[in-house]
Amino acid sequence: MNKDELWDKCLLYIKDRIQEQAFETWFDEVIATNLDNEIITLQVPNQFHYEWLESKYRHLIDNALKENSQHPLIVNYSVVISDKSVDEIPKLISKTKPIPRGYQRKSQLNSRYIFDNFIEGKSNQFAKAAALSVADTPGQNPYNPLLIYSSPGLGKTHLLQAIGNKLINQNSDMRVVYLTSEKFMLDFISSIQKNQSTNFINSYRNVDMLLIDDVQFFQSKEQTQEQFFHLFNDLFQKGKQIVLTTDRHPSEMKGLKDRLISRFQSGLVVDIQPPDLETRIAILTKKAEDDGLEIPYDVTEFIAEAIVGDIRAMEGALVKLLALSSLRREDITMNLARQVLKNLLGENSYTDLSIDKIVKYVCRKMKISERQILGKSRTMEVALARQLAMFLSKELTSASLANIGIHIGGRDHSTVIHACKNIDKKAIEDNEFQKKIVVMKNEIAGKENA
Ligand code: ADP
Ligand code: MG
Repeated sequence: MNKDELWDKCLLYIKDRIQEQAFETWFDEVIATNLDNEIITLQVPNQFHYEWLESKYRHLIDNALKENSQHPLIVNYSVVISDKSVDEIPKLISKTKPIPRGYQRKSQLNSRYIFDNFIEGKSNQFAKAAALSVADTPGQNPYNPLLIYSSPGLGKTHLLQAIGNKLINQNSDMRVVYLTSEKFMLDFISSIQKNQSTNFINSYRNVDMLLIDDVQFFQSKEQTQEQFFHLFNDLFQKGKQIVLTTDRHPSEMKGLKDRLISRFQSGLVVDIQPPDLETRIAILTKKAEDDGLEIPYDVTEFIAEAIVGDIRAMEGALVKLLALSSLRREDITMNLARQVLKNLLGENSYTDLSIDKIVKYVCRKMKISERQILGKSRTMEVALARQLAMFLSKELTSASLANIGIHIGGRDHSTVIHACKNIDKKAIEDNEFQKKIVVMKNEIAGKENA
C-alpha cells in the first residue's frame, strides 16, 4: 500500500468516527507526504492545526493507522508555510465569481442541502418554516438572529445551508458566509498568529448573511466569543441576517458569556425534535428515490424502526446496505438489511425491537398515554412508566443511552442511567416487581418474534 492509499483508508476510518464538520475542519487539508517502514509524515496547514490534531485526535489517528497498516507506524508532522493572506478569509459565496478550489470545498455551501429535500414532519416543521421565512426576507423579520437547536444528526446543518442556498439562488449577488464556529475560531487564531486580527473581523463585516454552525463550540473560548460578539452587533445593527445552530437551548449553554447568550436569544429560538417513525420512513424513502434506488418498503421500515433519534446514523445504515448489496451483487432484502444492522448495532445486542414499540407496550400495560410518557409530567405513575420504558429499551435494544433519552421525551443520557438504576433497585427490593419485569420482557420479545 502506498502513502496515499493508506492515508485515504485512515481518513475513511476517521470520518466514520467524528462529526462531519470536525472532519472537514481538521482533516480535509491533511495529506500524507511520506511513508517508510516506520514513519508516516502528515502535512498540516499550520502549527495550530498540528497542535490541535495532537491534543484532540492523536488516539484516533493512531487507531486509524493501526487498523489499516500492516505494521506499527510513528506519525510525523510537517507544517506548511502558508502564503494565503487573511484578506481571503471571508468565504464569500457567489455563483458568478469562481472560488478557488479547495477553498470552495470547505466554505462553499453544499448544494445538496436544500429545502426541497428536507422532509417536513411534526418534529421539524416550525424550524423549517422559520428557516424559509429567513431565506425569503433576510434581516427584515423578527427572526434575527434565528437560532436552531437539536441533538446531533437531526438536520440543523441541512436547514442552515438550505437558507444560504435559497438566498443565493434568488439573488446571486448576496454575500452569504457559512462556517462552523470551530472554523471561525481557527481562522481567528491564525489571524492572531499573523498579527492581523483586525483584518479578520473586518473581512466579515460586509456580508449579507452570516450562517454559523455549532455555536456550542464557542464555549470557554473567551477571545473568540469577544470577537464574535462585536461582529454580531455590527451585522445586527446593519440589519443583516444571522442564523446560528447549537446542540442545546442557549440558556443551557455553559462557558458562554451572558451577553452573548442574551444576544442569541433575542430573536427566535426554535428546536428540532427527533422525527417520528413516519417522518423517518419518509426521509429514507426520499433519499432512496433521489439516488434512483428501489428499496422494498419493509426494508425501509425496518431501518427506520431500528435507528431512532439520529437521521445521520439512519442514512449511514442505508449507505452500508447499498454498499453490501453491490459488493455481493445481491438484491436489497430484509435478510441483507438484518446483516447490516447487526453489524452496525453489534452482534449480541441486536434485536428487531425498537424503542417506539417498547414505549407503546409500556403505555398499554400501564394504561397511560404516549403523550404523558414522552411529556414532562412528574406524577409517580408516569415517572415510573417512563423509567420502565428507558430500562426496557436499554435491556432489549441496542440503542445507546443517549439515543434512548432523546427518544423518550428528549432526556439526556444521565436521566436514562438514573432511570435504569432506579428500576434495578426496585427490582432488588421488591420481588413482585422483579417478576413483572421478567414478564414484560418476555411479552415484548415474544410479540416481536411472532
Ligand atoms: P445536524 O447538523 O443537526 O447534526 P445534519 O443537518 O447534518 O444534522 O443532518 C444529518 C443528515 O440527515 C444529513 O444528511 C441531512 O441531509 C439529513 N436530514 C436531517 N433532517 C432531514 C430531513 N428532515 N429531511 C431529509 N434529510 C434530513
Ligand atoms: Mg451539523
